[in-house]
Amino acid sequence: MNIILLGPPGAGKGTQARILVDDRAMEQLSTGDMLRAARTSGTEMGKIVADVMDRGDLVTDEIVIGLIRERLQGEDPAGGYIFDGFPRTLAQADALGALLQETGKTLDAAVEMQVDDEVLVQRILGRAEEAKAAGQPVRADDNEDSLRIRLMAYYKQTSPLIGYYHAKGKLRPVDGLGEIDEVAGAIKGALG
Ligand code: AMP
Repeated sequence: MNIILLGPPGAGKGTQARILVDDRAMEQLSTGDMLRAARTSGTEMGKIVADVMDRGDLVTDEIVIGLIRERLQGEDPAGGYIFDGFPRTLAQADALGALLQETGKTLDAAVEMQVDDEVLVQRILGRAEEAKAAGQPVRADDNEDSLRIRLMAYYKQTSPLIGYYHAKGKLRPVDGLGEIDEVAGAIKGALG
């Protein structure tokens, strides 16, 4: 089963992806994680990516599509792929469709995690506070200014994907407001 986790920053996509990896032998493909790895590489591309990410904007379609294309070349995981934070634009969604087709795969569902904005802000700023208190590194984009830009990027560029996947009959809306286990249960129900 290949699925997309769709939702604004702070909706819990990464947390739920990790649960699915443990429960279903799926593989998580997070473009955010891949980009965070790329920015530490010290390459020219890494520096450009770091600036864009810290600001809260989206990196170019070309870069993220290239990252996903590379990862889809290998052997398929037993449980299929979870696309976490990808696609984020209509161009990325089209590219994903083409890549899946080329590699003989299908998309089973786009799970839309629905969460109020107010909760997102609290979660993300809380995540930064917790990391700081525990002496762990705080994500450079987990601050109020970047968050506002990330939310705007979501509404302008990513939320049209809700209609896109609805039209394809793949959209599975899930309430992302509850406890982690409750949301995991709702996703399980939505995937059948
Ligand atoms: P995330 O970890 O998914 O919250 O992503 C962190 C940041 O990485 C985003 O704010 C963007 O700057 C960048 N990013 C991650 N995935 C994508 C994507 N699919 N398209 C464009 N930018 C992305």
